[in-house]
Amino acid sequence: MPGKRLAGRQSYEAILKSIEDHHNAIRNSLPMIASENVPSPAVREALASDFGNRYAEGWVGERVYAGCRYLDEAERLAIELGKALFKGEFVDVRPISGVFANLAVFSTFSNPGDVMMSFSIPTGGHISHAKEKLGGTAGLVRKLDVNSYPFDEEEFNIDLDGTEKIVRELDSQGKPPRIFVLGASVFLFPHPVKEVVDLAKTYDAKVVYDAAHVAGLIAGGIFQDPLRDGVDAMTMSTHKTLAGPQHGTIVSWEEYAEPLKKAVFPGLSSNHHLHAVAGVAIAFAEALEFYSDYSRAIVTNSKALAQALYERGIEVLYEKKGFTESHMMLVDVSKYGNGFEIEKRLEEAGIIVNRNLLPYDKRMGRDYRAPGGIRIGTQELTRLGMGKSEMVEIADLMKAIIVDNSDPKEISLRVSELRSPFQKVRYCFSSDTEAYAHVKIR
Ligand SMILES: *Cc1c(COP(=O)(O)O)cnc(C)c1O
Repeated sequence: MPGKRLAGRQSYEAILKSIEDHHNAIRNSLPMIASENVPSPAVREALASDFGNRYAEGWVGERVYAGCRYLDEAERLAIELGKALFKGEFVDVRPISGVFANLAVFSTFSNPGDVMMSFSIPTGGHISHAKEKLGGTAGLVRKLDVNSYPFDEEEFNIDLDGTEKIVRELDSQGKPPRIFVLGASVFLFPHPVKEVVDLAKTYDAKVVYDAAHVAGLIAGGIFQDPLRDGVDAMTMSTHKTLAGPQHGTIVSWEEYAEPLKKAVFPGLSSNHHLHAVAGVAIAFAEALEFYSDYSRAIVTNSKALAQALYERGIEVLYEKKGFTESHMMLVDVSKYGNGFEIEKRLEEAGIIVNRNLLPYDKRMGRDYRAPGGIRIGTQELTRLGMGKSEMVEIADLMKAIIVDNSDPKEISLRVSELRSPFQKVRYCFSSDTEAYAHVKIR
């Protein structure tokens, strides 16, 4: 309603109450969105610091403003830690999110009109890799001509023979791909990095590995090591399995350092969220020290939860392949309703997952609004210290909702009971504050 007057004071109280209510809700729920995590109290301290109110334009040590001494110390450390963790020659911690990191790399490695290969959305691809007509960053913003990899549904991976064929065809039309993007948002098994790098070399194209989801697993030394397998750049969000603040990072090689730097600043940002940069440095330090253990615990929990759900008659996909090698699994819930309805029923019980397209949904006439699946991630519950026995209990609670159609209110009490002893962040240096403490500094 135009002209409606909102009382400042009331609105102010209402906003703060929403934040407090959210903290109470999440501390009693099972957060299993695969792209989220809970950062350590130290990261949250960085996020609340005055770093977030400053500018430090330019590269560290070459700033265009004064007052950057301590900001520089933090950013320099973040870069050095990133190099140690991912063993790349060049690290830029300034992209303000994973999408910005991707756009900086796409801009460096291609020109508008160039062909890019990536995963389609129903096969797990991310919107930042998608075509113009979908509003994808690559297509809409960078104006790339995006082609999807043919997909092997049995393996939930690239069909390499089919890809070679398409690439040959594109080449014969005078449109060889300039960029091959690997990495995805539904990411169950490692991608064939070496094979795609070999193919790309034939056409003098670049390979970009988007580690948004799996950066924490890679940091912990499991899943795969794309830079060792020859990719030109690896991008990431720093808040999924990496469990830092919401931000982005690029890891690459010295030969691409200058154009990448320029694309990030001034190309794509002016300020680069210095509170988040300090948080990224902290998360990198935690990863160096603790993620060998953390990443293994995550994958063990994913496999345990997938197995327990499967034993309860719930169709977790890819049983023959061990369900998953990552923090997430894909479940076909179409026997019990669509993914949207199941997502809402689970939410009422305090079990937070997201509906997701299955690779064959399109053929079944289903779309993203009411897909056949849900995606479940174990990274946040693992960070809170949960293990195999909790995964089995969670499978029981999920079955009660999905299969038995139990009353979500009743199940929510059991969720909150299961959850109550797990209120501290593990795999970090200090955890005196509760994971979801609502910190007031007013
Ligand atoms: C989450 C995600 C991103 C980036 O998301 P941001 O919110 O911008 O950090 C990029 N690529 C993939 C594959 C993702 O899943």
